[in-house]
Amino acid sequence: MHQVVVSGLGPAGATLLYELASRGYDVVGLERERFPRYKSCGGCISTKIDSIEGLDIEHLVETPVYGATFSYKQSRYVEILSSEPVAYNVKRDLFDNYLVERAKEAGAMVVEGCKVEDIVEESDHIKVICHGGRSFRAGFFACADGAGSLVARKHFSLNPKEFGISYTMEIPVDETDTEKLLGNLFIDFGEVPSGYAWIFPKKGHLSVGMAGESRRCRGRLRKDFEKFLKNHSALAGRPLKEKVHGWMLPVYHSDDHPVVKGRALATGDAAHLVDPFLGEGIYYAMASAQAAARAIIEAIEKNATGFGSYREYLKNELYPEFRALAKLAGLVYTHPRLWYRMVEKEPEIMHRYYDVIRGRIRAEEFYRWVVSKVVRKPWKVIRRWLEDKLLRTG
Ligand SMILES: Cc1cc2nc3c(=O)[nH]c(=O)nc-3n(C[C@H](O)[C@H](O)[C@H](O)COP(=O)(O)OP(=O)(O)OC[C@H]3O[C@@H](n4cnc5c(N)ncnc54)[C@H](O)[C@@H]3O)c2cc1C
Repeated sequence: MHQVVVSGLGPAGATLLYELASRGYDVVGLERERFPRYKSCGGCISTKIDSIEGLDIEHLVETPVYGATFSYKQSRYVEILSSEPVAYNVKRDLFDNYLVERAKEAGAMVVEGCKVEDIVEESDHIKVICHGGRSFRAGFFACADGAGSLVARKHFSLNPKEFGISYTMEIPVDETDTEKLLGNLFIDFGEVPSGYAWIFPKKGHLSVGMAGESRRCRGRLRKDFEKFLKNHSALAGRPLKEKVHGWMLPVYHSDDHPVVKGRALATGDAAHLVDPFLGEGIYYAMASAQAAARAIIEAIEKNATGFGSYREYLKNELYPEFRALAKLAGLVYTHPRLWYRMVEKEPEIMHRYYDVIRGRIRAEEFYRWVVSKVVRKPWKVIRRWLEDKLLRTG
């Protein structure tokens, strides 16, 4: 019998484990894979991560990111770089491994190769059932096993219909070849509906990917991705023989998504805590895990359930941000050509957006600012769209 069991040890689970173990709680982390393991991801972490205390990731940062070279359907390239970092590029296998090791050093027990299949709430504890018949008992349970979570689908309504879908490829390149690309990202709008394509340069390889809303991209994303690989100027002439990975992005879609049930809660991707505009999820997984840890500690100390402080955190901190990012996604992905024209003409728009990514400006404030710019401009199509949208949402 443990105080807490955590399922899944990505950024959310490993952070939760660390937060509890470092305060002396008896916590076990169950992970399906063995570390270090691959995770399909761009590995670009916003500088918001600097606000997470106790992290020492300097040795894991491949390169700070100062901005991006944008393109529209692999043409009309515009480089918009800032004087200070917006994000850090990391290799996810090493980054996630570091988080798990940190949790172990803090005293957490970790069981790898253990797939969690279900939970059953009993009178004063939770039984966690794993593949092969193994089970664990704990006072509380945290579901942090990501987009493929079986428990979140059954108990927290993780909903594949609301996912983004993606393809990625890791292309090895000469280290000197990537040197001139480091510090920059490449982001392409317009090729894929409700999404974008990217190239995130690392030392010795390029993380390349494309993601979009599953309802609008299903059946065509693979072809769009191949077109992007063939046509983008940063990839021209490179042999593209690496494996293509497909994975899901459980983007935010509603405040009503249940994240708490009896003695269990969900966090990170398993709770749909991914930014619906650009798909940022690593920081949100870690920040939500910290909030979840605080709520679990309150529950242990008071022997109560409900996790009120966690629900308040989501309601007051993350959901307002995600709602604004969803509105921004609606604006940009419905009219990518017009959005791109705005960015080309006024790079200041992206400089301000970098401050949203850094956590210095709230997304709602940015969205209102962009809307106020749009309505002052004679771009009639987008203006009509906005008026229509405002009428419909009241
Ligand atoms: C293509 C792509 C690109 C992305 N790029 C970025 C980016 O550049 N920057 C960014 O901030 N975010 C990015 N994201 C989002 C980011 O990857 C996720 O939001 C983040 O990994 C969420 O962390 P997590 O801990 O909640 O879940 P995960 O990182 O998915 O970790 C879940 C863990 O649970 C384990 N697991 C799964 N099932 C079980 C089970 N049944 N039992 C036990 N363990 C299990 C998994 O093996 C895994 O280790 C990207 C996502 C995708 C798909």
